[in-house]
Amino acid sequence: MRLVHSIGVETVLKDLARYIEDDFRSWDLFDKTPRVAAHSEDGVIELMPTSDGVSYGFKYVNGHPKNTKSGLQTVTAFGLLARVDTGYPELLTEMTLLTALRTAATSAMVARHLAPKGATTMAMIGNGAQSEFQALAMRAICGIDRLRLYDIDPAATAKLVRNLSGLGFDLTACKTAQEAIVGAQVITTCTADKQYATILTDNMVGSGVHINAIGGDCPGKTELHGDILRRSDVFVEYTPQTRVEGEIQQMPADFPVTEMWQVIAGAAPGRTSDRQITLFDGVGFAIEDFSALRYVRDRLEGTGFFQSLDIIADPDDPRDLFGMLTRAGASSAGMQRDGAML
Ligand code: NAD
Repeated sequence: MRLVHSIGVETVLKDLARYIEDDFRSWDLFDKTPRVAAHSEDGVIELMPTSDGVSYGFKYVNGHPKNTKSGLQTVTAFGLLARVDTGYPELLTEMTLLTALRTAATSAMVARHLAPKGATTMAMIGNGAQSEFQALAMRAICGIDRLRLYDIDPAATAKLVRNLSGLGFDLTACKTAQEAIVGAQVITTCTADKQYATILTDNMVGSGVHINAIGGDCPGKTELHGDILRRSDVFVEYTPQTRVEGEIQQMPADFPVTEMWQVIAGAAPGRTSDRQITLFDGVGFAIEDFSALRYVRDRLEGTGFFQSLDIIADPDDPRDLFGMLTRAGASSAGMQRDGAML
């Protein structure tokens, strides 16, 4: 948090979007695998690893929609970055906040490529933990400053209005999702419910909009009616993962999608007409976390915002691990004797 404040939240979001875009541009360098997920009735716990051949990173993250009822967060995370040449860890960091920042940076980076030019208004459906970050990133990166807000829980919307008041947004709290999307060129759905929900139905979505659907991110958890997908051009992060976790889990296995790195690299078209509906089926991919870890490591240098941790055994002779243990045992036994004598 001190690092983010020392840089400024909106600058962090812009920087992160650049790091993520750079890594997406280097797509072929990365070791890619769908995240490793352990599902339960209550939620999911996931590991998200990747490497660019120089660094290796992973994030541990959960998703438990019921948590907020008992005063816990839906998503919590931490992550690690290591050197590939030695295998030694370089950075261990919290990633709950970093996930919100990188998710928002990814959404806005994608919207910069796909949203209608000159978009000013976003409907924000689901006003929970991610929502302020989404709003700030969409403004910092895409210039969107009019927000129409809806959540089934009015207290969540009130919290969002409270947090964003005075920051220069034009905010409208709405009573229904239908009302929220009126006049919006970008629609963000960011709700948490472990079910096939229908936050948006087909008749609600007009031509020409960009949908940033990021709440449906695991099997059995979607937000959009299938008919919207059929009318849209769907963009994803990493297809093998999104087929299992994204909105497209509702569709046949050969449902056409474009991976975002292709648009960024100029290898596939993004938005090609004013009437086209573009849909980012965002589930969160390991490379985004890797970019965020890289960013934190780079920015921490020269600051005092970290502690050196003693979590790697460090024997004087690298092959004498046992000797190190034995000597530590002898010295702690000595210390105990000394203590007893005192
Ligand atoms: P949260 O629990 O803090 O907020 C979710 C909000 O959705 C709550 O305020 C809830 O009242 C609201 N909601 C639930 N059902 C709704 C409905 N039918 N209509 C309108 N609002 C509804 O969760 P969060 O941390 O903001 O995360 C939201 C979702 O985004 C979660 O499902 C999470 O797993 C997902 N997520 C995705 C990514 C990604 O990279 N794609 C990253 C982080 C979180």
